[in-house]
Amino acid sequence: MIVEMRKGSTQEEVDEVIRRAKSFDMSVQLNLGTDKTVIAILGANTGKLPTETFAVLPGVESVSRIMKPYKLASREFHPEDTLVSVDGVEIGGNRFVVMAGPCAVESEAQLMETVKAVKKAGASIIRGGAYKPRSSPFNFQGLEKRGLELLEMARDRFSIPIVTEVVDPHDVELVASYADIMQVGARNMQNYALLTELGKSRCPVMLKRGLSSTIKEWLTAADYILAEGNNQVMLCERGIRTFEDSIRFSLDITSIPVVKKTSHLPLLVDPSHAAGNFAFVPAVAKAAIAAGADGLLIEVHHNPKEALVDGPQALTPSDFSRLMVELAAIAKAVGKSL
Ligand code: PEP
Ligand code: MN
Repeated sequence: MIVEMRKGSTQEEVDEVIRRAKSFDMSVQLNLGTDKTVIAILGANTGKLPTETFAVLPGVESVSRIMKPYKLASREFHPEDTLVSVDGVEIGGNRFVVMAGPCAVESEAQLMETVKAVKKAGASIIRGGAYKPRSSPFNFQGLEKRGLELLEMARDRFSIPIVTEVVDPHDVELVASYADIMQVGARNMQNYALLTELGKSRCPVMLKRGLSSTIKEWLTAADYILAEGNNQVMLCERGIRTFEDSIRFSLDITSIPVVKKTSHLPLLVDPSHAAGNFAFVPAVAKAAIAAGADGLLIEVHHNPKEALVDGPQALTPSDFSRLMVELAAIAKAVGKSL
């Protein structure tokens, strides 16, 4: 249930709504908007409470029910765009943010060379997996803690924040101590133990869409993180399974306007895992920015032929630089700066 307070309502009036919600064993989340406070009343039994329970209280403007399965990720609860701020880089605002780097951290030389190149080309965040959720247990699983240490070294050397994946709820604290953004991979979108642990952290989280998940399921999964009080959440569309097999996944371009309309969370697009082939990455990246995404997550490798993971979809540094120039022109056309 969503309780919208009147403009200028007092702290006592807000407190009274919270007190009443708690007296029915409900939990609450507050959106202290610039204009007015919105209170989400959450709990399995909210459907049984009449809206008058709150509508009669002083300072309350309106009470409504969110019929969607996701509540905290919805625009009803949070009408303004959420901005996630990472070390001076703002995601979800007027600036289009490009995160780039190798699929996996493989070695110091590989990481430093790639990071140097992507930073020079204009990326504002670097990506790199230290823990890799691979489809086969016999494939390279990542350098784990050593990978985190190398990412930290790259961040310090090139003064650029890092995004990296966490796959196990027990590793959240460790990964958060190195990462500026923690990534939840597509295969873990519905790992609720992981999402709950990430919600307890105050490190920003990027939640990728599951390979076969609907937009509703994706936004409802985001609620697990938000419900624990971590509101620094962004989403990443990375393509879904369809019958089409000439590409790795089908990038659901329509999810961009749908998510931007129904949710306040920043939305990134990963053209690399969708395309699965470096040749298709630029076109998909350009379509994403034109469709209204807030940023991109792109795989770049200094020598894709030697990559231990996802070489076929990695851009070379020179392909990436060229793409950045093209993206800047599209960003300008849609009112964003790169
Ligand atoms: C990745 O970004 O490295 C990755 C594994 O992507 P996804 O979870 O989307 O497959
Ligand atoms: Mn990859």
